[in-house]
Amino acid sequence: MRQMMVAGNWKMHGSVAFTADMVTTLATKVAVKEGVTLLVCPPAVYLSQAVAVATQSGIHIGAQNLASIAAPGAYTGEVAGFMLSDIGCQYVIVGHSERRALYGETNDVVAQKTKVALDSGLTPLICVGETLDQREAGQAEAVIAAQLDAVSAVIGVDGWEQSIVAYEPVWAIGTGRTASPEQAQEIHAFIRSRLAALDINMAASMKILYGGSVKPDNAALIFSQPDVDGGLIGGAALNADDFSRIYACAQPK
Ligand code: PEP
Repeated sequence: MRQMMVAGNWKMHGSVAFTADMVTTLATKVAVKEGVTLLVCPPAVYLSQAVAVATQSGIHIGAQNLASIAAPGAYTGEVAGFMLSDIGCQYVIVGHSERRALYGETNDVVAQKTKVALDSGLTPLICVGETLDQREAGQAEAVIAAQLDAVSAVIGVDGWEQSIVAYEPVWAIGTGRTASPEQAQEIHAFIRSRLAALDINMAASMKILYGGSVKPDNAALIFSQPDVDGGLIGGAALNADDFSRIYACAQPK
């Protein structure tokens, strides 16, 4: 049986009051289920607070980014993987399309960050996905293969065994235009097959989340696809009611 996960990415939203309210509300509202991890990823400055509020609730806390350098040093403004572990963070998103598009993170940088995350004891959620132009040009699988292969070259099968993949078609993020369940399933199956070429058991147990305009009214159908193991949620993760309704749609496979 594969584990499921529902993860919320707050992006650059929140405050001390919002963090306290959201994590407390989720802790009281959501009955965390065996086999379905509930993950919340606030901005870095609210992580310690979120970890403290989430104690004993069954809610896991993750970061949205980390430095590509592992050791302490003169890297003004960066947050290291070991610091995230130090404050009780367990997960980190790497390679979100916003980081790739707005901050120039290449496939190689994403691979390096993934390695640093693993070496720091964090579970990376590695985001992959194509733009609309790439999809329309028939390049979706080639783009995703290159994103996955760059990571494979650095972390190998052992690293993948400790990782999670999130398929996030760029054209579906924050647009209200979600991939159809069939489109999601097609790419998820492709991702699993690409990983199976490295190791069939690792691929079979890999959690592959879907992200891109998941809402309470479309989550159940997307999550029911055979190769979809939950979701990475942006906008709807900022509303406790919507996020808990999305979580309720995830059942272990
Ligand atoms: C995301 O930010 O990763 C995301 C999927 O956003 P949204 O759910 O708003 O499309």
